[in-house]
Amino acid sequence: MDIGIIGGGIAGQSAAFRLAAANHKVTIYDPSPATGASLAAAGMLAPASEVNFSEVPLLRLMQHSNDLWPDFVRQIESVSGVSIGLRMDGTLILGYEPNDARDLERLAEFQRELGIEVTRLTHRQVKELEPELGGPFPFAAMISTDNQLDNRQLMHSLEVALDQLGVKIVHKSVSSLALKGGNYEIVLDDHPTPRHDIVLLAAGSQVGSITGLPTAISGAIRPVKGQIIRVQAQSNTLLNRVVRSKTYGKTLYMVPRTSGEIVIGATQEEVGFDTTAKVRPIAEMLTNAALLLPGLGEADFKEQLVRFRPGSIDNAPIVGQYCNSNLFLCLGHFRHGILLSAALSKYVAESIQSGKQPSEIEGFGAARLEAN
Ligand SMILES: Cc1cc2nc3c(=O)[nH]c(=O)nc-3n(C[C@H](O)[C@H](O)[C@H](O)COP(=O)(O)OP(=O)(O)OC[C@H]3O[C@@H](n4cnc5c(N)ncnc54)[C@H](O)[C@@H]3O)c2cc1C
Repeated sequence: MDIGIIGGGIAGQSAAFRLAAANHKVTIYDPSPATGASLAAAGMLAPASEVNFSEVPLLRLMQHSNDLWPDFVRQIESVSGVSIGLRMDGTLILGYEPNDARDLERLAEFQRELGIEVTRLTHRQVKELEPELGGPFPFAAMISTDNQLDNRQLMHSLEVALDQLGVKIVHKSVSSLALKGGNYEIVLDDHPTPRHDIVLLAAGSQVGSITGLPTAISGAIRPVKGQIIRVQAQSNTLLNRVVRSKTYGKTLYMVPRTSGEIVIGATQEEVGFDTTAKVRPIAEMLTNAALLLPGLGEADFKEQLVRFRPGSIDNAPIVGQYCNSNLFLCLGHFRHGILLSAALSKYVAESIQSGKQPSEIEGFGAARLEAN
């Protein structure tokens, strides 16, 4: 099949990889691939730590995708030869003061009820793992199944792999979709209209700006602002694994890379496409990070970035065929787009090839939109 993909973030590129590897002809349309939310992300593969009291089916999909990642990493790396930086060091969960500890203890009980292994640690055990952390922490636990990859290396690795597989990248924005003879066609403002057997919509938070889409789709995705920071530590042993914490009621994560970079994040704000960087949340994140990891004060400030998570009507992804048409969706990855892409790329590719919704993503299909 000839497949046109709108959007070259992780959703579009991971699907392109699966489809091109299965010998389909794939074209990605994106004015600047891999510069949206996929650039900002911290790269955590954290189904257990990200579990929400109301989102158990999504947890199961996230866990399944987490299981698929090591093999997906091998597949991409074997084509590109570029490392993705997958690290299986686990995630340390810390509560800074007694109220934070109580909240995290409640969450740990819920996680255990769902079968997630949460191992409490003593202060001494924390210090053995992470000598540079402050503390003592009234709550400390290890979740060994939550890990990380370097999302920027991932996107670079995918870019090289897609080139190897013959995927064409058109650096143009898709202004609209036209419905002709029951089929959706891509429209580019200053370019002849390309025809594809299948159109896969993976434009992240900006999908609403494409005209000609059914309103059920364009209205289904909202931008959720995230401000995130990157600092460069003097050594790559300041922090050895992902740390997620609650400090005076505020959540925070620190994600160390082998280069000594530490990603610190992130805000979650429902303010539309507001691209301004605000001092207060940045100052708060850095202050709390330095409370946990005092040596962070000596790190170099590298980067602050604002990007938008694609949040759907029910905060779950929307994946699969739209109304028996040639239009397929891979949208609404929200907070978990890196984590979910190993599974969503696999199953959206399967649905395109078979015309059926795979059982693994049964509850996450576009039928939720058709009903609206
Ligand atoms: C601060 C922050 C931290 C995060 N941390 C994590 C994390 O640790 N783990 C995790 O799993 N997830 C994380 N996420 C979520 C994750 O980044 C997103 O879910 C994921 O990147 C969404 O991927 P996407 O491809 O749908 O969107 P994007 O990466 O935003 O890509 C969409 C692409 O579509 C293109 N596009 C838009 N409109 C058009 C058009 N009209 N024509 C052509 N192309 C178009 C854009 O240029 C862009 O390249 C984080 C997100 C943020 C903001």
